[in-house]
Amino acid sequence: MKTVAILGGGPAGSSAAERLARGGLKTILLDEKLAWEKPCGGGLTYKAYSQYRYLIDNDSPKRLVNDTFLASTKAGAVKMSLAHPLVIYSRYDLNRMLLERAEAAGVQIEQERVMHIDRESNGWKIRTRHGNIQADYCVVATGARNPLRSVGTQYTAQDTMYALGYYVPTKQNHIDIQFLAGLEGYIWVFPRAGHLSIGICGKGESAQCLRARLERYMDEKSISRKEATFYGHMLPALEGRAWRNNRLAGDGWIAVGDAGGLVDPITGEGLYYAIRSGDLASQVLLADVEPHRREDQYRQTINRDFALDLLYGAMLAKRVFSGVVLFGAVPNRMIEFMRRSPRFCEIMQDLFAGTQPYLELKNRLLKNLNGTLHEILMSFFFRKLVFGETRV
Ligand SMILES: Cc1cc2nc3c(=O)[nH]c(=O)nc-3n(C[C@H](O)[C@H](O)[C@H](O)COP(=O)(O)OP(=O)(O)OC[C@H]3O[C@@H](n4cnc5c(N)ncnc54)[C@H](O)[C@@H]3O)c2cc1C
Repeated sequence: MKTVAILGGGPAGSSAAERLARGGLKTILLDEKLAWEKPCGGGLTYKAYSQYRYLIDNDSPKRLVNDTFLASTKAGAVKMSLAHPLVIYSRYDLNRMLLERAEAAGVQIEQERVMHIDRESNGWKIRTRHGNIQADYCVVATGARNPLRSVGTQYTAQDTMYALGYYVPTKQNHIDIQFLAGLEGYIWVFPRAGHLSIGICGKGESAQCLRARLERYMDEKSISRKEATFYGHMLPALEGRAWRNNRLAGDGWIAVGDAGGLVDPITGEGLYYAIRSGDLASQVLLADVEPHRREDQYRQTINRDFALDLLYGAMLAKRVFSGVVLFGAVPNRMIEFMRRSPRFCEIMQDLFAGTQPYLELKNRLLKNLNGTLHEILMSFFFRKLVFGETRV
């Protein structure tokens, strides 16, 4: 293989391109917009920047935020100081930084819209507005709204959710996460350099309903929309069956990031999986793998690395937002447990850092159950004795 075309220059495409070029392959990246403010919270977890240090060790504008408030209408708010901050970028800054790294590694970057791709006996013909480009292999990184129908994940309505919000030119030093009754999703307030990204994501609700919920929240918090800019986009949230049938690779192509549905179905975290899948795709393409085995090898690598965990997350998602535990809604109980149990707080810290796999969550919760319940009861009886409180 001599030439690889990267279709799309978001975090997935630019990460794959950088590594392929560093590995010695001629790499062409095509993106219709290049660095742009892609609708996003822009939050990167510890899991992402501890593995890819350049995500934190750079001069690009960003915020490192530790203080986080989790709240639900019924249980109120609880503060959690993250052991590892969330690193929050504007997507223009993040995309620009990643594209500059790719360019410095030797990637040929073109601002072009890919109109169509045709499989040919010896590779691909890529049609753009300004002519055709030949490549031996394609990495599909065109995001959740991939317009190329023959490659990448095929989304059904159940496998996506709306995510929308506002960039608000105001300041705040902490993160807010708000759970809402009846919503399989949440509201976030992420402080960025110079503004906030306030948004909502939710499965099974129209964009109109989500927007109304978010605007009600902003009004309650007195967050003005006067100077704010609205944004909205599709967020992949594959259901269990879709993970198993996911079209992640095919003859002569591999899909990375949102174009391959690689997003955490509970939190909506996609940046890490975009960068990670770009990295893993490039490792497979650079390795000495027989051409007809490349796609299988990629699928297996992705499954081993994180996709099985995300599949399990897809099965948990409904229970996390709409389930009931000890006669109360899970988000309410989560907040109440955090107030009363340091052990439970540690688990939440790790979930926020991205270091607690969903596959091992049940075991960890069960292992800690006795201690957690003990802490909750002790804290309840202490409050009852000292303050005369009776609510659990
Ligand atoms: C509202 C919202 C909030 C989010 N918040 C977070 C968050 O806080 N943290 C997190 O980890 N994840 C978050 N995500 C998910 C995250 O934004 C995505 O997972 C991530 O952007 C995926 O990167 P990507 O490179 O795969 O795709 P994208 O970032 O979408 O990049 C795709 C690129 O392809 C280009 N492109 C598309 N079609 C063509 C074409 N035909 N020709 C040429 N170029 C093309 C586009 O211009 C774009 O630059 C959020 C998503 C949404 C919608």
